[in-house]
Amino acid sequence: MYHHVKKLMFTVRVDEPDPRFGNMLLEQFGGANGELAAAMQYSIQGLNCEDPDRKDLLMDIGTEELSHLEIVGTLARMHLKPAKFDRQAAEADPLIAIAGGGGVNLFNSQGNAWTADYLKITGELDVDLRSNIAAEARAKIVYERLINFCDDAGTKDALQFLMTREITHMKAFSLALESMGKPAFSIGRVAPTPGLVNQFFNDSTGSGDHGEIDTRGPWNEGGDWVFTESPAIQAGEPGPATAIVTESSAPVDEAGLGNLLLDELRDILHAEKQLTKALPKQPVLTSCASYSSSISARPRPRSSVSTSVSSCLASPRGPSHARA
Ligand code: MN
Ligand code: MN
Repeated sequence: MYHHVKKLMFTVRVDEPDPRFGNMLLEQFGGANGELAAAMQYSIQGLNCEDPDRKDLLMDIGTEELSHLEIVGTLARMHLKPAKFDRQAAEADPLIAIAGGGGVNLFNSQGNAWTADYLKITGELDVDLRSNIAAEARAKIVYERLINFCDDAGTKDALQFLMTREITHMKAFSLALESMGKPAFSIGRVAPTPGLVNQFFNDSTGSGDHGEIDTRGPWNEGGDWVFTESPAIQAGEPGPATAIVTESSAPVDEAGLGNLLLDELRDILHAEKQLTKALPKQPVLTSCASYSSSISARPRPRSSVSTSVSSCLASPRGPSHARA
């Protein structure tokens, strides 16, 4: 359960309200990398989590993010307050000024409504933790940019606090992932194809007018890397068509795959049954036939169903009814 305490996690002070800066702050309120997105992402991941230790971590941080949302909202509201009565201030964010009466709402700095599409929730704990580490990195960099564009000392203090907490969270999520003891590139249960997984395709080649180069590094050389010249270029040349390793990997879980196929088949059969039920008992052949004869210069006898069917093809219901 949630409990609200009438006290901010970090006391906020704004000496000089700046409505334009208040608008920028909304990025961390209702934006893609903002505090509501963080709070919802971790809390919902926590709801789904079956690992009791990491579930606790997700709920702890998810809840702290709600406290961050409260700080950012308070800060933004203080900066946007002049939009209530000052025309020039209102121009900084007409949506807030005219529709919101100077109060904040869940929009980003461009007035786009907050959306659950911002959330990354896969139901695979290690994959979710990676998303969270990346989310904290994004939140950190957005706070840093806000600090760089901020002139108000009190606001800077609050932003420095929030920025620091994101690094704390990043550290916690990283260690939570590490302590799961999964090899770095092991995601899910189906193994990648052995020969293909180590192939690096040199798909961007040549040197550009702005100093772009064709280069090598640990991301494509050394270790078990197999550096492969662009398969697209090789395909255009005589000789072996392509260097891409395409043999398929051994099926890991045949029973699981079988069950999946059975499920799919059951769905298809069910859908077909529903479709058959939905079809009218008397096909609409008569109307199709009369339509075809009305557009034809030479009237056809009613029996020439096969020719009139083709003119019914334009109607999406035509062919299936004709077959019935
Ligand atoms: Mn936060
Ligand atoms: Mn965070």
